Amino acid sequence: MTEAVSLTPRMRRITLRAPEFTDYEPIRPDDFFALLIPGLEGLALPAGALVGSSPRAAAELIPARFRPELRWYTVRSHRPEAGEIDVDIVLHGDDEASSGPGGRWAAAAGPGDVAGFVEGNGVYSPPVSAGRQLFFADETALPALSSILASAEPSPGCPALGREATAHIEVEHESDIQPIDTAATVHWHVRDGRRPGLAIPRVLDGIPPDEIGYAWVCAEASLVQETRRFLIAEGGVAKELITFSGYWRQGEART
Ligand SMILES: Cc1cc2nc3c(=O)[nH]c(=O)nc-3n(C[C@H](O)[C@H](O)[C@H](O)COP(=O)(O)OP(=O)(O)OC[C@H]3O[C@@H](n4cnc5c(N)ncnc54)[C@H](O)[C@@H]3O)c2cc1C
Repeated sequence: MTEAVSLTPRMRRITLRAPEFTDYEPIRPDDFFALLIPGLEGLALPAGALVGSSPRAAAELIPARFRPELRWYTVRSHRPEAGEIDVDIVLHGDDEASSGPGGRWAAAAGPGDVAGFVEGNGVYSPPVSAGRQLFFADETALPALSSILASAEPSPGCPALGREATAHIEVEHESDIQPIDTAATVHWHVRDGRRPGLAIPRVLDGIPPDEIGYAWVCAEASLVQETRRFLIAEGGVAKELITFSGYWRQGEART
């Protein structure tokens, strides 16, 4: 990695550099990757072992004393000409109980540090004429959501999202709020110590259910589950028009 800067008190942007990033081709704006976090003895990556492997299979190929911890992060931006990728990582605690290897790595990362990268594909996949789109996210899905909302063409054949697209974002503190470069309507909700999912409203923003063309829900697992249920039961949104992913689960490590 080459550089790390604080975006907010709880989010750090880390720039990764590798010659392979010049050829890397992201497909969706919420594309993610597995970060292989070195242990105390460092990280030994056998040449070619990560190519074509699933992240877990790749990690298994690494001898036990060098085997990394694996966590998932979004490709926030990609500069192929510089061979660089930015990743924005939430710092969620500083003691053993509330932190994890990913957050600890991000808090301490500095120039010259080494980590592994195995690419994966995002889930944002609206139908071509999706109509009005709804987004629900928390701070961990903010990098992915920011990329989707800012994309000139968020998915092939899909025009840029305008005011009719609505995003609801739940964050822990007021200070977690970040500017998003988008024409879409964005609502922020502050959790302030409550459990994930309690600050985010169950609303359809006055949109008649049959006008909701697509919903993307990525956040803590219970927020995702409850929001998805609401969209289906109250909103009448067809299951196949909702893509979702539990990015983390309260009280459990996301291995
Ligand atoms: C597809 C995908 C993309 C993702 N993209 C991003 C991204 O771009 N940026 C990002 O920051 N995260 C992202 N995440 C979430 C990230 O992978 C998890 O938050 C991850 O578990 C953090 O790892 P950790 O080692 O810090 O904590 P873990 O070892 O997984 O967890 C340790 C403890 O911390 C708690 N914890 C974990 N995350 C949080 C949190 N955010 N707030 C409060 N408590 C928490 C857990 O409940 C557990 O009790 C993404 C997840 C997925 C699946």
